Amino acid sequence: LRDMANSKYEYVKSFELEDEVMLPNLMVVRIDGRDFSRFSQVHEFEKPNDETALNLMNSCSAAVLEEFPDIIFAYGYSDEYSFVFKKTSRFYQRRASSKVVSCASAEVLQAYLAWRQQDCHANNQYDTCFWMLVKSGKSVSETQEILKDTQKQQKNELLFQKFGINYKTLPELFRQGSCLFKKKVEETVKHDENGNPVKRLRRKAVFVHSENIAGRSFWNEQPSLYN
Ligand code: ATP
Ligand code: ATP
Ligand code: MG
Ligand code: MG
Ligand code: MG
Ligand code: MG
Repeated sequence: LRDMANSKYEYVKSFELEDEVMLPNLMVVRIDGRDFSRFSQVHEFEKPNDETALNLMNSCSAAVLEEFPDIIFAYGYSDEYSFVFKKTSRFYQRRASSKVVSCASAEVLQAYLAWRQQDCHANNQYDTCFWMLVKSGKSVSETQEILKDTQKQQKNELLFQKFGINYKTLPELFRQGSCLFKKKVEETVKHDENGNPVKRLRRKAVFVHSENIAGRSFWNEQPSLYN
């Protein structure tokens, strides 16, 4: 684009800027891994949840949160992460053309997060049943037939009766996804000549797991979300 500056094509740039996400909308960017079903096969992920891969995804997202001051919250599971920007952010001139979900109010943001967490739950419950059945010797088509049109309650019963699994006791990381916040933490950066610790304040990404990230109690505990 550099060569376009001051050229007769300069006007094209104005088309790009027309897609500014206007206030009071706040910006959420959701990133989803491309073709991860295949990626997870090629790299022999543990199914349905490869904890090492989830932890790697979480560490990368924590690094993103620590790198970009404007991101105040993030939520992720499986191969996706949603990053919530503070309302007043001018990041990339607020351009919408980058997988931005614009949220007109805190209520819309809550609805968005509830939607993603619902997807996390539904996928994880299905995948847990799916892989238990496949690992117990059923074929993929038999498994799909068994799970077709089943409700949540039926899936829970299947897991309990066939495999003795109480779904609620599975790790929160799998069932609820991961939330990331920023906290100011005191960190020892070095020790002085007398051996005393030298401390600095640093922004650090902190994980929270919660059953209902769109719920009132969760938001009341996290006032920083109202920025
Ligand atoms: P100029 O010379 O006018 O600054 P540029 O080519 O540097 O033009 P920028 O708008 O600064 O263009 O963008 C730099 C790079 O960042 C481009 O590759 C662009 O596609 C990418 N980019 C810009 N905005 C976003 C965005 N909102 N999300 C993701 N990538 C973006
Ligand atoms: P698309 O490119 O359209 O996003 P996709 O193959 O990435 O296609 P998704 O709907 O994004 O499809 O689903 C992600 C896939 O990656 C699922 O099949 C899921 O089982 C797998 N996956 C992602 N993370 C993990 C993980 N930590 N452990 C096991 N499987 C995972
Ligand atoms: Mg530039
Ligand atoms: Mg997809
Ligand atoms: Mg994907
Ligand atoms: Mg996905």
